[in-house]
Amino acid sequence: MTGRQTRAERAAYPLARDAIRKIAEASGGCLRPVQLRRTDTATGETVSVMVPCGATLASICPPCAERAKLLRAAQCREGWHLEDEPDLAPAAPDEMQEFWLILRAEAQLCRDTAEAAGQDTTDYDELIGELDTEITRAGVRGTVTNRNGSDGRQRARRSRSTRRRQDAAPLPAGKIAPRTTGQVYSAPDGKRYRPSMFLTLTCDSYGKVNDDGTPADAASYDYTRAALDAIYFAALFDRFIQNLRRVLGYEAQYFGGVEPQKRFAPHLHLAVRGSVPRPLLRQVLAATYHQVWWPATEQVRFAGDRLPAWDEDSGNYVDPATGEVLQTWDAALDAIGPTDQPRHVARFGPKFDAQGVLAGSKDAEKCIGYLTKYLTKQIAECHVPETGAQRAHAARLTEALRYEPCSPACANWLRYGIQPKNARPGLVPGACKGKAHRPEHFGYAGRRVLVSRKWSGKTLADHRADRKAWLVETLGLEVPDPARYTWAQVTPGDSDYLPPERRLLHVVADRARWKAALTEARRRAGPPAADLSATGRAA
Ligand SMILES: [Zn+2]
Ligand SMILES: [Zn+2]
Repeated sequence: MTGRQTRAERAAYPLARDAIRKIAEASGGCLRPVQLRRTDTATGETVSVMVPCGATLASICPPCAERAKLLRAAQCREGWHLEDEPDLAPAAPDEMQEFWLILRAEAQLCRDTAEAAGQDTTDYDELIGELDTEITRAGVRGTVTNRNGSDGRQRARRSRSTRRRQDAAPLPAGKIAPRTTGQVYSAPDGKRYRPSMFLTLTCDSYGKVNDDGTPADAASYDYTRAALDAIYFAALFDRFIQNLRRVLGYEAQYFGGVEPQKRFAPHLHLAVRGSVPRPLLRQVLAATYHQVWWPATEQVRFAGDRLPAWDEDSGNYVDPATGEVLQTWDAALDAIGPTDQPRHVARFGPKFDAQGVLAGSKDAEKCIGYLTKYLTKQIAECHVPETGAQRAHAARLTEALRYEPCSPACANWLRYGIQPKNARPGLVPGACKGKAHRPEHFGYAGRRVLVSRKWSGKTLADHRADRKAWLVETLGLEVPDPARYTWAQVTPGDSDYLPPERRLLHVVADRARWKAALTEARRRAGPPAADLSATGRAA
C-alpha cells in the first residue's frame, strides 16, 4: 500500500481482508493458493494461475479439505457396488490355487517389508504357515519359498510359537470361488439387487464409560491396553482383512475410515463390496488377533534424571552408573524365548455393527456420509474434550502413550534398558517424536482412509481427473495442449509475485467466473443428474 491512509481506512483494512477470506471460503476457493506462472511457449505470454493448496485438514484450508472429502466420497461411492472388476474371471480349480498363491505373495511382501523395517515378523510367519497349508490343500505341490524369506542370508529364525492361540476361536474354513465383486440377486419382477455391506468395528472395552466417553471409574480403566490397542489398530485391521478374505475365498474389497469414539479409542467404518453373513463375520472377528513380539516393558530401569548415556566410542547407550552397555534391539528380540508370552495381543471388541446396503440407495449415501464425516479433522479434533472430566480422560490416555514404545526405533525403549533399533545420540525416553505419542493422534498413527487395491480400480488422481473431465465437458471448454505451456512456481523474489491477499482476490474472481459458467452450462443442459452435481462440484 502506498500513500497516506486515514485511521478509518487502516481500521477497515483487516475487515476487508477477512471479508475476502469469507467470500473465498463460501465459494469453495482455496484460502492458501499457490501461485504458478504459466508460460505459453508459442507466444511467450505469461499468466498467473492460482492452484489450490490441496490440504486435507479443515484446520489448514476448509475448502480444500471439503473438496478432498468429496473426492473420497466419490471414490467410496464408485467402488462399493462395482459390477465388473478388470481381472474378474469365472471360478476354476486352478484359479482357486492362484487365489491362495496371491494371498501368499502378499503375506510374503508384508513380512519382508516388516523385516526391512526392523519389526518382528512372527505374526506374518504364522500367517504364511497357514497359507502354505491352504496352498497344499488346494493341490499345489511343494512350497513357494523356505519359510523365512527369499534370500539365503537371513538371520536364524527366532524361536517363537507360530501356532494359533488356544484362546482364539478357530478360523472358519471357506469354500467360495475367487472374485472381487458381490453376488447379484434377482427379484421376481426382474429387478437386480447387489447388496453390499457397511461394517463398524470397535476396540474392546477398557472399563465402563459414561455417555460423554469418560470412564465410570478412572482408576480401573485400562489405559495401558487402550494405548496399545490404538498403536496396533492398523496391524489388527490388516489381519482381519486377511482372515476375511481367506474365509470368503475371494478378495473382498473395502473402503474404510478410521476415527475416534468419544472414549478416544479408534474405531473403523468400513464399506465392503458384497455381503458377508453376520454369523460368519462374528466368527472371523472372534478368530482375529494380532500378537506383538516386542521386548517386555514391565520393568522401568531408567527414569527421572537417571537416563542411559550415549557412549561415543562404542556407539552404544550405557548404564550411567556402571557403564554397562545396554542390550541392543536385536539382542532383545533374540532373547524372547519359545515360552515367553507376546507383549500384547490386540483384538477387536465383541461388539460390531453390520448392515446390508443396496447400490444407489439412500442408506448407501448416508453410510458414505459416515465414512467421510471426520476426514477433514485430526483424530483429536473429532471429539474435542469440553468438560473437565473429558480433558482429564484425554490427558490420562496421552500419559499412558507417553512411555509406550511406538516402534523399534522409539526412544522409549531406553526407559526399559533396551537400545532402540538404529540407536543414535540424543534419544530421551518420553520425548519420541512418533505420531502415536502426540495428543492429537491418541495412539493411532496410521492412515485415516484405508482403501483396498481393487476398490474402484482407480487411484485418487484418476477420480480427480474424472471430475475435471466432467467440468471441461460440461463447460464446453477447449482442452489446452499441455506441450504448449511450461509451469513454474512464483517465489517472493519474483517481479510477478502476489502477496497472499492479492492471491485470494484472484481465487475469488476465478470462483465467480467458474460458478457463472457452470450455472449457464447447467441451464443449457437441463437438470443434471444428482450424482454428477455432487462429484462435479468445484474444480
Ligand atoms: Zn487450500
Ligand atoms: Zn515413539
